[in-house]
Amino acid sequence: MDVKKVLCMVGGTSQTSYAANSTIPKKAILKIRPMLEEAVREIYRNLHPEKMAVADLGCSSGPNTLTVLSEVIKIISNQCQKAGQQPPEIQFFLNDLYNNDFNNIFQSLDQVGQSVGAEEGTISVPHFVAGLPGSFYGRLFPLQSVQFFHSSFSLMWISQVPKDIGDKKNGMPLNKGNIYIGKTSPTLVAKLYQEQFHRDFSQFLKLRCDELVPCGQMLLSFLGRNKNDILDGELSTIWGLVAESLDSMVLEGLVEEENLDTFNLPFYAPSAEEVDAIVNLQGLFDIIHFQTFESNMDPFNDLDGDVVLDNVQSGANCAKVLRSVLEPMIASHFGSAIVDDLFSRFATHAAKHLLKEKLKLPVLALSLKKKEYT
Ligand code: SAH
Repeated sequence: MDVKKVLCMVGGTSQTSYAANSTIPKKAILKIRPMLEEAVREIYRNLHPEKMAVADLGCSSGPNTLTVLSEVIKIISNQCQKAGQQPPEIQFFLNDLYNNDFNNIFQSLDQVGQSVGAEEGTISVPHFVAGLPGSFYGRLFPLQSVQFFHSSFSLMWISQVPKDIGDKKNGMPLNKGNIYIGKTSPTLVAKLYQEQFHRDFSQFLKLRCDELVPCGQMLLSFLGRNKNDILDGELSTIWGLVAESLDSMVLEGLVEEENLDTFNLPFYAPSAEEVDAIVNLQGLFDIIHFQTFESNMDPFNDLDGDVVLDNVQSGANCAKVLRSVLEPMIASHFGSAIVDDLFSRFATHAAKHLLKEKLKLPVLALSLKKKEYT
């Protein structure tokens, strides 16, 4: 699988689109707004730039990237208002892979102008927006040209499925029956995924460090793992339910076994300790804040604990979220004919699971500052 060509969320604004199903990251963005505020304020206070370059990496096609953009504008506007200073001009870059539906974002850009300009007594901040297609595992900007990087719910997508996962052992595919690290995966599979994430995340840090101005900052949030057991993380449970759904289709002859055997996700959910260790090993950034929290996979269930009032409805809600993320990759590997059936099976499997426990999405959020002498 060539991730750069295949990975994208469902474009457009239909019911199954990412735009219509992205409230989980939205809630996370608002939850960590204080981290965003502190980072942007500090950049402004320390650097007093006349112009600022700000990039959202993995912006996708939904409204969340525009929320980030307008929050940054509001923070700068308030800061300038208080200090009685002229606002800087901000150049925003919205980055994602080549298949992303950038047009959908561009079409809603005028709403940002309205929401930002709507508050009375605020200073208006001149800003410009550009789309930037390309992988964040490669260089995206000239050296030392960016003040602030933001990335939400993107860095758990790795640059490739670890190469050797497709190998066979005694004629059996190494990761038989799984599409990610699962309870029945050999520990080698977990190790290969872990090493791929380590390489990718290190590379990401190195590249962003090159592109940031001295004392530039980043705010990164992505899915991770709270459970200790790498074979039994929260995301392993969710991807396990997808694997079960696909397997049931193999048993009924609707999906070729060979196709399932060759499907593994370019995804890795790290623990906070792993992320912390990689940042420290690289030595390019200071971690300013590191926060972890959990979101429910059902965006309409905000109840704490494991209470699920209607497991069937909740299973359907989870399936909708998942489909908006996974459909393009599933369609490209298995063909679009299986999509409706697959996600309706997932809803059923998820509903059954929800009788035992909720499906949880652990989120890791960290703000980082480029060290002065890098
Ligand atoms: N930031 C948005 C979207 C998250 S969806 C939000 O919070 O709602 C994750 C996005 O990351 C997808 O659009 C996917 O295409 C993008 N992505 C994954 N790997 C990427 C890469 N290597 N380079 C750029 N974008 C990537």
